[in-house]
Amino acid sequence: MEKERLTLVVPAYNEEEAIPIFYKEAKKVEEKLPQVEVEYLFIDDGSSDATLDVLRRLSEEDGMVHYVSFSRNFGKESAIYAGLQKASGEYVAIMDADLQDPPALLPQMLLGIMEEGYDCVGSRRVSRKGEPPVRSFFARLFYKIMNKMSHTEVVDGARDFQMMNRKVVEAILGMGEYNRFSKGIFGWIGFKKKWMEYENIERVAGETKWSFWSLLLYALDGIVAFSTFPLVLVSILGLVFCVAAFIAIVFIIVRTLVFGDPTSGWPSMVCIIMLVSGVQLLCMGIIGQYMAKTYLETKKRPLYLVEEERL
Ligand code: UDP
Ligand code: MG
Repeated sequence: MEKERLTLVVPAYNEEEAIPIFYKEAKKVEEKLPQVEVEYLFIDDGSSDATLDVLRRLSEEDGMVHYVSFSRNFGKESAIYAGLQKASGEYVAIMDADLQDPPALLPQMLLGIMEEGYDCVGSRRVSRKGEPPVRSFFARLFYKIMNKMSHTEVVDGARDFQMMNRKVVEAILGMGEYNRFSKGIFGWIGFKKKWMEYENIERVAGETKWSFWSLLLYALDGIVAFSTFPLVLVSILGLVFCVAAFIAIVFIIVRTLVFGDPTSGWPSMVCIIMLVSGVQLLCMGIIGQYMAKTYLETKKRPLYLVEEERL
């Protein structure tokens, strides 16, 4: 009987240094995966360094190394989608190129799916060692807010590193949305999922592509993609201001009729106008975010464009 295949999908953006190290480490683990044949599928996400050359060379040396190279940088989310689309394996694992997702976990993950009957084995880091404290604080805050606002569970510390069977791959591919937020997508689809926990590991080479600012924008995208609660909030805010204004109007009319003194004080008036218009702009901004995302979705642009591939 032919062996089933496990595809390792590895998004790589400017990872010329990390890829050879990753490949070597993953190769070592292969012997602990006797049940399957391992395919490597690197997604070169429009790298500007020699990543593509490294991949070409690797795939010439090893017939199980395949790659897809994008026409420009489309982002990790698109790279994951492309990887899942092009993966030929019955089982697929998504892994970072920087060895922050230890290949040593693969055998246990595979057991979880092949023997224990799970559809998907995810990983979460239980510590944020080596990360700036401010970043950890905001990350925790994000998960708290996100889980309050959305019915979709987004697990704190969950990584994109996970292994899944065909069923799950097809389910994710069925979600062709443009505004992709993997952590939400993985939570949304459901299925039987096992979690593996590990300590945070720092990347082996190169540097992270995430600045604080890009993480913040990503978090906001995630909220817009998986919750419409901000819109509810906007409606409630509008209602509260209407009620407050109504009470104030009644108060002033009664006061003028009873005491007859003219309403004075334009500084307070200016403050009120500024407050109310500020709140209005904020609410319009929130609605605008949803509109912008809807606009992008309706264009139905492809998630990525391939310049070169070897499958
Ligand atoms: N990555 C990508 N496209 C991007 C940014 C990152 O394919 O636009 C890849 C990157 O090469 C790495 C993985 O996504 O394999 C995780 O990136 P990184 O290590 O920078 O993120 P972190 O681990 O710091 O969250
Ligand atoms: Mg990393």
